[in-house]
Amino acid sequence: GPMIKLSNLSKTYGSGPGAVQALKTIDLEVPEGAIHGVIGLSGAGKSTLIRCVNLLERPTTGSVRVDGQELTELSGAALNQARHQIGMIFQHFNLLSSRSVYANVALPLELMGVNKTEIRERVAPLLDLVGLADKRDQYPSQLSGGQKQRVAIARALASRPKVLLCDEATSALDPHTTGAILDLLQDINRRLGLTILLITHEMEVVKRICHRVGLISGGELVEEAEVGDFFTAP
Ligand code: ADP
Ligand code: ADP
Repeated sequence: GPMIKLSNLSKTYGSGPGAVQALKTIDLEVPEGAIHGVIGLSGAGKSTLIRCVNLLERPTTGSVRVDGQELTELSGAALNQARHQIGMIFQHFNLLSSRSVYANVALPLELMGVNKTEIRERVAPLLDLVGLADKRDQYPSQLSGGQKQRVAIARALASRPKVLLCDEATSALDPHTTGAILDLLQDINRRLGLTILLITHEMEVVKRICHRVGLISGGELVEEAEVGDFFTAP
């Protein structure tokens, strides 16, 4: 089956006259190993959609399956466990400023109770993978935006997830740095077989690395296609 399967997903914020229906009956399947993009304008529901995949937002109705496991039925420790399968990166990186590069990447492993020796053995290759081995003792304030996102990618991979969620991961970066981060994500997809779901408002992002793309508008997925077909001029 697909690595990610969203079925009949809806999300309403608030209730009564002020309620906002951010997602309406979303159906989405992402096969294992794919890079799938969801593109749309501001307010279309992209962020809500991607945050429903790891239950940072609880859907109002519908099903979220990741690697065959229904996540909406989980809470507490079982949900935390399932989230180890799902890494996430963000537009503004969300690094801890008081922690070194090394300690940011080590954090999820510390929270999982991995012992210090194994943490050291796992963090070093992650820093190599993202090209930051020589920055391990620096702090986020000493890094460029692209370097910060590399740290965030290494941290997201620390729990050895099967899925990586990218929430506007290159929107705060200049075009050159954006290209380098997208190349890194593509490299990780190929080398680790990681399934990637990304949201963006930028067509260039989709064109550069996605296999399939869905267009979201007003909380609905209104079109989906292979990237080559999606951008073919009429
Ligand atoms: P996008 O990521 O495409 O910009 P969002 O998912 O952030 O879209 O927002 C979709 C809709 O849901 C918008 O109308 C937005 O104002 C609304 N929304 C998002 N988050 C909240 C929230 N926490 N409370 C109320 N409304 C929200
Ligand atoms: P904190 O101030 O939160 O303890 P630190 O930067 O001191 O953050 O590091 C957190 C953990 O990571 C500690 O266990 C520390 O020993 C370990 N650590 C930090 N940097 C390195 C490094 N370069 N090599 C090995 N372990 C490190």
